[in-house]
Amino acid sequence: MAIIQDNVNNIQEKINKTAKDWGRVPSDINLVAVSKKQSIDKIKESLDSGHRLFGENKVQEAYEHWADLKDNYEDIKLHMIGHLQTNKVKEAVALFDVIETVDSKKIAKKISDELNKQEKSLSCFIQVNTGQESQKYGVIPDELEDLIDYCRSDDVNLDVIGLMCIPPSDEPYGLHFAFLRKLGEKHGLFQLSMGMSSDYDKAIMAGASHIRIGTAIFGDRGD
Ligand SMILES: *Cc1c(COP(=O)(O)O)cnc(C)c1O
Repeated sequence: MAIIQDNVNNIQEKINKTAKDWGRVPSDINLVAVSKKQSIDKIKESLDSGHRLFGENKVQEAYEHWADLKDNYEDIKLHMIGHLQTNKVKEAVALFDVIETVDSKKIAKKISDELNKQEKSLSCFIQVNTGQESQKYGVIPDELEDLIDYCRSDDVNLDVIGLMCIPPSDEPYGLHFAFLRKLGEKHGLFQLSMGMSSDYDKAIMAGASHIRIGTAIFGDRGD
């Protein structure tokens, strides 16, 4: 009956095994359970398994899913993994613990200002468009250094801890994961959010610190 608990446990086992196979410490790999478009019942079931780290890609939906639950479970951590619009930054900063999708100076500055206003702190990843796809969000690799410098400058001072990517669906994922890792090493950013339901083993192999898993935990979203 407890399908979602089983899924979480099975994935955690696979993470542990893959990590060991590649000489990595299993606890260095964080499972971000992506609850977008899933029912509250399923989300609660995953909470019953003890899982506490989740990802959402839309601010509005994240509130619908998590505003109440976050009051009831103090240790829930929420990652924003979708594109963030400037007019949603205020609400995003109030709800999320980590924003993985910083991809422009404009959004970085807005997050920074909002953090000051709300007297809050949170960590960020910079989303990199490793495949330079026109339809995808993320900073292009050539502009990454400039954006990192800006985020680290005194008047922005964002706590950037890593890089995030969504590889093109029609190219070998491994190349993109390795590329993101190289970019991270170059800039002293060792947290890497990469890998989803279909490719997380390869991402772990390539050095992922955060894997974002939706359907393999909660089942189809109907999209
Ligand atoms: C939906 C989503 C995921 C999860 O994808 P699955 O294939 O369901 O595991 C991961 N990352 C991002 C950015 C997403 O939007």
